[in-house]
Amino acid sequence: MNLFPPTEEQRAAVDSFRKFLQAEIKPIAREYRDRFLPKEKMTEIQQMIAEFGFFGTTVPTQYGGLGLSFLTKAMLFEEIVAVSCDIGLCAMINAGTAEFMVTNAPAHLRDRYLPGLLAGTVFGCFGISEPDVGSNVADIKTRGVRDGDHFVINGEKTWITNGVYSDFIICTTRTSDKGLSHILIDRREHGYEARNIEKIGMNSQSTAQVFITDARVPATNVIGGEGEGLRNTMKVFEKARAHVGMLSVGLMRASLEESIAYAKERKQFGKVIASHQLIAEKLAEMATLADASRLMCLRAFALIDAGIRCEVESSMAKWFATESAVKVCRDAVQLHGGNGLTKEFQVERLLREAIVIPIPDGTTEIQKLLISRQLTGFSSFV
Ligand SMILES: Cc1cc2nc3c(=O)[nH]c(=O)nc-3n(C[C@H](O)[C@H](O)[C@H](O)COP(=O)(O)OP(=O)(O)OC[C@H]3O[C@@H](n4cnc5c(N)ncnc54)[C@H](O)[C@@H]3O)c2cc1C
Repeated sequence: MNLFPPTEEQRAAVDSFRKFLQAEIKPIAREYRDRFLPKEKMTEIQQMIAEFGFFGTTVPTQYGGLGLSFLTKAMLFEEIVAVSCDIGLCAMINAGTAEFMVTNAPAHLRDRYLPGLLAGTVFGCFGISEPDVGSNVADIKTRGVRDGDHFVINGEKTWITNGVYSDFIICTTRTSDKGLSHILIDRREHGYEARNIEKIGMNSQSTAQVFITDARVPATNVIGGEGEGLRNTMKVFEKARAHVGMLSVGLMRASLEESIAYAKERKQFGKVIASHQLIAEKLAEMATLADASRLMCLRAFALIDAGIRCEVESSMAKWFATESAVKVCRDAVQLHGGNGLTKEFQVERLLREAIVIPIPDGTTEIQKLLISRQLTGFSSFV
């Protein structure tokens, strides 16, 4: 039984979105396999996705969005990722910055950036991680020094999704000895440099180092209140982790689809490998892990829609889905035999992408520390 049966409207929206993605976006994703999608091409793609209203799925209609639920957005999001994890991650961050603007930004920033984000023409990014600051977000070094009605910001961010594409960065900045604040730095107006980082997989989108040198930014660009950066980052993580879980669900689905097709084609010992029991077991496990992960993510989204805090459910969904994807995508390679290791087939790419996902937005280890702290009241972080 599906605990989250889609409504007729959701089913219709997902069906037409899937048809569009399979017909229009999948060929581009295949063409750019392991190659960087330049900004013009990624903008074209994001604009096509924007025509379906994806970036504003949960944005209230008064601000130009569709005013729908996170559950609906998650169902649409899975369709993007099943076609391309790279394009999915880029879209996830653009939609995430749009939602962050609506929830936290002063009106002048929201009105300036939101229309472009919803239209797929403006790219945002979140700058939290730094060369010496990964899991321990509270230790951020990037500094904003008050100078009249401006902050002068200096620091280096790393692993920033959309960094090279970005028009602005929501930069988690130390604005006093104790306090962190989110400050929007506009690339053209205030200036920062971005440089891509080559990884094991997911190199069609931008993961970047960002260098901020003496960026002079008005104090009115603080988002969510001065000193509120850590608290608001934790809220961002709650939603982001469920989305990252869905990235993995999309990867598992793609691996499973490739594996079912291959198992029904490939013959050994005089019959298709789908009819060998150990292959049948593998497929059943892959499908079950994908489905369990999907349900855990959708539960987190349902809680978010209900306005109920769900750090634990979101952390559980994130670690379970991302680690399941590593197993499922590895099983897909195994099921393909030697062919699975080659570029002729999609599964080697899917495995390399799956390996990336347990790291962003808090590693598997960090999710488990968060869950166990909630269970026992004891912190095992230090
Ligand atoms: C593809 C990708 C996209 C990303 N996008 C963004 C982005 O858009 N914006 C952004 O700000 N960041 C982004 N990140 C950064 C990501 O959030 C960090 O990589 C992550 O938080 C881990 O930090 P780290 O890499 O510095 O690892 P570290 O924190 O150095 O951890 C190293 C290892 O030690 C473990 N560890 C750390 N602390 C503990 C502990 N207390 N107990 C036990 N084990 C521990 C970790 O689990 C890990 O295995 C992205 C990363 C990737 C790979």
